[in-house]
Amino acid sequence: SANVALKVDIVVIGAGQAGLSSAYHLQRRGLDPQRGFMVLDHAPQAGGAWQYRWPSLTLNTVNRIHDLPGMPFSDAVDIDALEVEAATAVPRYFAAYEKRFQLPVWRPVTVKVVCSRGERLRIETDRGNFSARGLINATGTWEKPYIPDYPGAQRFKGLQLHTKDYRTADAFAGKHVIVVGGGISAIQLLGEISLVTTTTWVTRRPPEFRQGPFDQEAGRAAVAMVEDRVRRGLPPTSVVSVTGLPVTPTIEAARARGALDRLPMFAEITETGVRWADGTEQQADVILWCTGFRSALDHLAPLMLREPGGGITMTGRLATQVARDPRIHLVGYGPSASTIGANRAGDAAARELMTYLAL
Ligand code: FAD
Repeated sequence: SANVALKVDIVVIGAGQAGLSSAYHLQRRGLDPQRGFMVLDHAPQAGGAWQYRWPSLTLNTVNRIHDLPGMPFSDAVDIDALEVEAATAVPRYFAAYEKRFQLPVWRPVTVKVVCSRGERLRIETDRGNFSARGLINATGTWEKPYIPDYPGAQRFKGLQLHTKDYRTADAFAGKHVIVVGGGISAIQLLGEISLVTTTTWVTRRPPEFRQGPFDQEAGRAAVAMVEDRVRRGLPPTSVVSVTGLPVTPTIEAARARGALDRLPMFAEITETGVRWADGTEQQADVILWCTGFRSALDHLAPLMLREPGGGITMTGRLATQVARDPRIHLVGYGPSASTIGANRAGDAAARELMTYLAL
């Protein structure tokens, strides 16, 4: 019956990099994959949010996807074929990984809400309810695209899309496209769209292109900065976006054809385009918001984990534990919102939660 909850010690929500790393470490530390823990995932197949990425995002054009713990990517996918789509390769790798370690992933299961019931947590889903003593939440950001508010957005008669809606540039042929946002997604999509049609690029701040190769030191500093923020209860900023924009041959070509001549943010949206504060207008058929994502945590609302300022105060070795409710870990959140961060955070969360619950 819908009222009988299946009982386990730990529920992991999400089977992306963060959820699978957590599951691997729970199992390795001896938690029983039947009664001890289970992973609930909303997606139709293995792969986390990678299965939804646009086709031109290949292993060649992603920043870098780190191997999950215990099994290299190359065991499942021919990594020399760099043109292979991330949306195909990563699901193939994750599926092989789940199989090799026999991880108890249940899908498709959508967690609707998590509430506290005394000592236990009640996890309500579209496939029945679960009861757990601890929770590792690894739901990523893909389900929560962020579009900033600009006056007139409702008035616009053209098409407004977010990064997550993008499939191929051909859909925009013959249309004028305004791309909003200063991150890697914005320049990658501009690089493709500006090959087939006219574009305008707007960003809040002047973009910073990376000089030379990725700077490990700068990467670490960025992660430390985000970790410091969440330990103080402030909302996290993105860790994957603070490393400077890479200059690939595609980006260089886009720059040469003028597609990366950036304009400052407009002041308002009109019926047919956008208008800057000085009255200048640009007509457009499409506004493509490459304005990022937020953490998908709405299902945790009843637990009231947030501080008045909107952030969640995090503690623990890698800042995965929620200070207000130590039964709950957030992995892939804040400083661990990268494939390498999610790997390490899954290890720390598994260890700390099992210790806390005396498992
Ligand atoms: P996800 O992969 O999003 O997995 C979350 C899982 O939780 C999904 O399967 C989802 O279905 C499930 N879920 C969500 N809500 C619920 C719910 N209520 N109930 C049940 N299940 C739920 N990082 C890098 O390190 N290198 C890169 O090259 C890189 N490229 C990126 C490119 C793009 C376009 C984007 C958007 C991000 C990129 N990132 C990259 C960041 C990347 O998303 C993370 O590093 C990592 O893949 C996130 O893993 P995750 O497990 O936290 O989340």
